[in-house]
Amino acid sequence: MRLPLIAGNWKMFKTVGEAVVFAKVLKPIVKDLQGVEIVLAPPFTAIHAVAEAVRHENIFVASQDLHWEKEGAFTGEISAPMIKEAGAEFAIIGHSERRQLFGETDVTVNRKLRAVLTSALTPIVCIGETLDEREHNQTLAVLDRQIQGAFDGVTADEISELVIAYEPVWAIGTGRVATPAQAEDVHAHIRARLRQWFGATAAEHCHVIYGGSVKPDNIIDLMREPDVDGALVGGASLDAQSFADIVTKARATV
Ligand code: PEP
Repeated sequence: MRLPLIAGNWKMFKTVGEAVVFAKVLKPIVKDLQGVEIVLAPPFTAIHAVAEAVRHENIFVASQDLHWEKEGAFTGEISAPMIKEAGAEFAIIGHSERRQLFGETDVTVNRKLRAVLTSALTPIVCIGETLDEREHNQTLAVLDRQIQGAFDGVTADEISELVIAYEPVWAIGTGRVATPAQAEDVHAHIRARLRQWFGATAAEHCHVIYGGSVKPDNIIDLMREPDVDGALVGGASLDAQSFADIVTKARATV
């Protein structure tokens, strides 16, 4: 059984001080919630402070990106072992903003994924089509390409443990959420491909979460779909009460 997983992607928001305040507000609200995994992805600068603030709680910390090398002359970059040492247990890879604004490709996603697996972090691998691709009926072909590229050389056991975030680019930060039926169609397709390429066990264990304008008032309908295992939340994760509402409602659907 896949526990619901709700991850908050804070993007380039929150200082260390603001991040710690958020953690302190969230902790008591979700303290007694069993059966849901909660992940916060602050900017790199706040990973350590947030990890310390939520220690021993049911909240985990993720990075929003990383470099695939362990160390080296890569000015401005941060590696998987550094993130891990700072207290992260998850790493987001291939977010559409990285793909669109910073030249991320399926090849670099694959390198980062391997680095994350080597460092015993759990990857949250983002895939998703643009509006143009959807309107030209290319959604499933784009996703197939992204999955094949990202998971090249990855084993079925590794697939079992990771998280795929289906994030249609047209739904990110736009307020235009995919309908539950649209999300389920794609999630079911992703799981079918995982079954075909990595086997039934990997497909059943792998989390496929949805991202794109998730809010407290739409999470329940999304979570009722059988192949939607949680959510990656941007804007609505910046406020602790709104994020806690999403987590609580997602838990209640199980
Ligand atoms: C995201 O950035 O991953 C995201 C889904 O953003 P939003 O929830 O704001 O659409």
